[in-house]
Amino acid sequence: MCKLARKYERVIPFHCLLMALLFVGQQLTELYIAPTVLSAVERHVPLPRLFLTIGGFTLLLLLLRTVSTYLNGFIGYHRITLRMFIAGLLNRKGCDTSYVNRFDKKYMDLKQNAGSYVGSNSGAAEAIWNTLTVFLQYLLGIAAYAAILASVSLPILLVIVATALVSFFTNRYLNAYEYRHREELAAIERKLWYVQGAASGDAAKDIRIFGLGNWLEELYQNALSAFRAFKIKSQKVYLLANVINLLLTFFRNGFAYAYLIHGVLEGGLSASEFLLYFNTVGSATWWITDILNTAGYLRTQSLGISTIREALEYPEPFKFEDGRPLTHAEGQTYELKLENVSFRYPGTDRDVLKNISLDFRPGEKLAVVGLNGAGKTTLVKVMTGLLDPTEGRVTLNGVDIRDYDRRDYYKLFSAVFQHFSLLPASVAENVAQDNEKIDEERVKDCLGKAGLSEKIASLPEGIHAKLNRHVYEDATALSGGETQRLMLARALYKDAPFLMLDEPTAALDPIAESEIYESYNEMTAGKSAVFISHRLASTRFCNRILLLQEGVIAEEGSHRELMAKGGIYADLFAIQSKYYREEDSHEQQA
Ligand code: ADP
Repeated sequence: MCKLARKYERVIPFHCLLMALLFVGQQLTELYIAPTVLSAVERHVPLPRLFLTIGGFTLLLLLLRTVSTYLNGFIGYHRITLRMFIAGLLNRKGCDTSYVNRFDKKYMDLKQNAGSYVGSNSGAAEAIWNTLTVFLQYLLGIAAYAAILASVSLPILLVIVATALVSFFTNRYLNAYEYRHREELAAIERKLWYVQGAASGDAAKDIRIFGLGNWLEELYQNALSAFRAFKIKSQKVYLLANVINLLLTFFRNGFAYAYLIHGVLEGGLSASEFLLYFNTVGSATWWITDILNTAGYLRTQSLGISTIREALEYPEPFKFEDGRPLTHAEGQTYELKLENVSFRYPGTDRDVLKNISLDFRPGEKLAVVGLNGAGKTTLVKVMTGLLDPTEGRVTLNGVDIRDYDRRDYYKLFSAVFQHFSLLPASVAENVAQDNEKIDEERVKDCLGKAGLSEKIASLPEGIHAKLNRHVYEDATALSGGETQRLMLARALYKDAPFLMLDEPTAALDPIAESEIYESYNEMTAGKSAVFISHRLASTRFCNRILLLQEGVIAEEGSHRELMAKGGIYADLFAIQSKYYREEDSHEQQA
C-alpha cells in the first residue's frame, strides 16, 4: 500500500506520520499540565507566572488540535482516490486475466473478496490508513511514555511490556479467525449474493412464470443461517480474545498502582510526581490495550490487502507479453490445426471435446453442427484461444498457440458469441469498440451488412444513439434480434482474418436470417470462417460441415456428401425438414 501511495498519492503516508506526531504532542502537553501546575503551587510561584504557565499550555494545545483537525479533514479525498485506483487495477485484471481463470473457483473467490475490500470507505484498501495512523500514534505514544516510566521504575515497565506481548500474540492468532476460514465464508456469501442478484437480474421473468420465488427464498434462508452460524462462531473467538485482554489489564494495573502507592508511602515520591506517573501508567496501559486491538485490525486489514494482492498477482496460465509476438500482415494466410485435442472444464470429470483432430485451411468456410451440449461452443473457444486443450494442441501455421502472446492471437479473430455484451456507449462505439478513432463510413457499411441500417436510421441520433439502459436512462433499447445484428456488425468492423459465428441467427426472424445467409459469402470473403448452428439448412453455403456428437467429430463433409452418406446428419436433416414438408403436403391436399 505504501508503495502504491508513494507512486500515486504521496501525501498519504506522510499524513499518517504527521498525525501520529501531533497526537503524541497533544498527549504529552495534557500529561504535563496538571503536574506542572501542582508543582508550581507546591513551590508557591507568583500568580502571574502560574497564569502564564496555564495560558502557554492552553495555547499549545489549541494549536496542536487545530492543525490535526485541519489535516484530518483534508486527507479523505486522497485516500478515496487511491482506493478507487486499486479498484481500477482489479477491474483491469478481471478484463485481462486468462479467460480460463474465470472457471477457476479460487481466482473467482479471491476476486470477489478483493472487490469487497475496495468497495467502500470502510474496506481495507481505505480504512487501513486510519488504522495505520492510530497504530503509529499509540506506538509513538507508548515509546514516549515508556521513556518516562523507565526513569522512575523498570519493574512497572517490564510488567507492562510482558503483559502486552502475551496479549499481542493471543490476539493476533484469534483475530485472524475469519481470514483462516475465508473460503468457508466466501462460499456462503456467494450463495447470498447469487440470490440477491437473481432476484433483481435477468431471471426476473423466469422467477415469476415458474414460481421460483419460494425456492430462492429457501436458498437465501439456508445461506443466511450458515452465515449467522459462522459469525456467531467468529464472535465467540473474538470474545475470548477480549476476556484474555481484560485479565491481563487487571493484573498490570494492579501491580503498577500498588508500586506507586508504595513509592509515596515509603520512597518519598512527591504529589506532583505521583500525579505524573499515575497518569502515565493510566494512559500507557490504556494505549497498550488499544494498540493490541489496533494491531489486530491492522492485521485483519492487511490480510484484506493481501487478498487484493493475491487477486492482482494471480498466476496467468496464458502467455501475454512474455509470449511470441504475432502481427498480422496484409495478405498473410493462416492454417489452424487441432491435433488430438481433448478438453475438460476445470472441476468437472467429463471430457467435453474428445481427441479432435482438424485441419482448418486458409480461407475455408467451416460449419459446425450438432445437438445442444455436443461441444460446438467449446470447440470455438478452444480454436479462438479462450480455452487451452487439456490434452493435445492447437497450432497456427505450425506453432503451438500457447507460445504466442495471447492478445496478439485474439487480434486474428472476430466473433459473435451467444451471450451479448453491449457496452454503455453509442452504436458507433459499440461497433468500432473504440471511442477515439471511429471510421463512421465503415460503421454504417457494417451495420448495413448486418441488416441494421433501417433501425439505426430511424433513431434521432443515428449511430450516435446511446445503448445500455443500465447506465443511460435515455438509452435506446434494442430487441434481442437487433442486438445480435449489432454484434455481427461489430465482428465485421473488426475485419479479422478469422470470423467465428456461434449461432449468429438464433435471435433473428426468418427474413433477417435469410438475409444473413445471402450475404454470408460477401461477409466472409477472404477470411476463414466458422459458422455454428443447429439449423442444418443454414450450413449449405459452407465448404465443409463437421457434425459434432458428444465431443467427437461424428461426420464430416459437404452437405451433399453427408446427405448421400445417409448417417446422423441426414437423419437430423430429415427431422428438421419434416415439418416444412408436412406443411407442403397439407397445402397440396387442400
Ligand atoms: P454446444 O455449444 O454444442 O451446445 P457447449 O460447448 O456449450 O455445447 O457445451 C458442451 C458441454 O460442456 C455441455 O455438456 C455443457 O454442460 C458443458 N459445459 C459448458 N460450459 C461449461 C462450464 N463453464 N463448466 C462446466 N461444463 C460446461
